[in-house]
Amino acid sequence: MSASPAPNFDLHAHSTASDGLLAPAELVRRAARRGVTALALTDHDETRGLTEALAAASEAGIRLVAGVEISVTWRETTIHIVGLGIDAGDPALQEGLARTRASRGERARAIAAALDAIGIHGSLAGAYRHAGNADLVGRTHFARFLVEARIAPDVKTVFRHYLARGKPGYVAHRWAALAEACAWIRGAGGTAVLAHPARYRLSRAELDALLEEFRAAGGEAIEVVSGEAADASALARVARAHRLAASRGSDFHGPGEGGAELGRLPPLPADLEPVWARLGA
Ligand code: AMP
Ligand code: MN
Ligand code: MN
Ligand code: MN
Repeated sequence: MSASPAPNFDLHAHSTASDGLLAPAELVRRAARRGVTALALTDHDETRGLTEALAAASEAGIRLVAGVEISVTWRETTIHIVGLGIDAGDPALQEGLARTRASRGERARAIAAALDAIGIHGSLAGAYRHAGNADLVGRTHFARFLVEARIAPDVKTVFRHYLARGKPGYVAHRWAALAEACAWIRGAGGTAVLAHPARYRLSRAELDALLEEFRAAGGEAIEVVSGEAADASALARVARAHRLAASRGSDFHGPGEGGAELGRLPPLPADLEPVWARLGA
């Protein structure tokens, strides 16, 4: 009899259904090879990778948590809400995600026009060439085109110089409302998790205000251990203060794109309630 492996939950990862580099089945197989025992596929505003991922997970003998990462605008800041354990067939969720995706094409044209204005041409076609799912064209696809065009050495540098807020290729955009995104997730039987809280550069007072609204909307957890370089013990204190469960997710986008490898993250602080305790068997 073989002992079952120690649980290794990675509850945040992307495939070619959004801005990841690996197809859903490849992502799942890589996670299994890296010792992940439960993986959540959490593509941006999109669930179409889940069918393939579920089949691959049953073949690889790991658990696949059906997820999504919804783009939200909160007080002029873009934040991301991960939904875990969703029923992807839920009509209200799908209607909301379709609405959130709908304006990406228009935003892409605006980003390309902004890059044209600083002498970087051909980026619209270039971004679409890198988009595995044309409905989900996003900044990462522009970044990969700019790397390919040798305008910058890597995706991180592209964001820093061209695509981050305040940079010449940045286009402000209005995504879903916080309460809306949480309602779609909960309506689909899922658990709402605030993704990578340190990414937003909020003051502690702003983060407190965000989390109060998030909890009022039915939000249940925050990512305490994530691919974002952040102080996990500070985020653990935030989780305790707001009585939120804790999640652990790499936000893996692909080999060589920076950030954490699948499943290779520190454990959650032992006193926090892991969000997977709420996901059912
Ligand atoms: P979008 O939803 O099209 O605005 O793209 C958001 C995605 O861009 C994120 O999910 C990341 O994959 C990527 N991204 C955002 N900021 C950075 C950054 N500073 N470095 C690398 N990738 C980033
Ligand atoms: Mn992404
Ligand atoms: Mn995110
Ligand atoms: Mn993500």
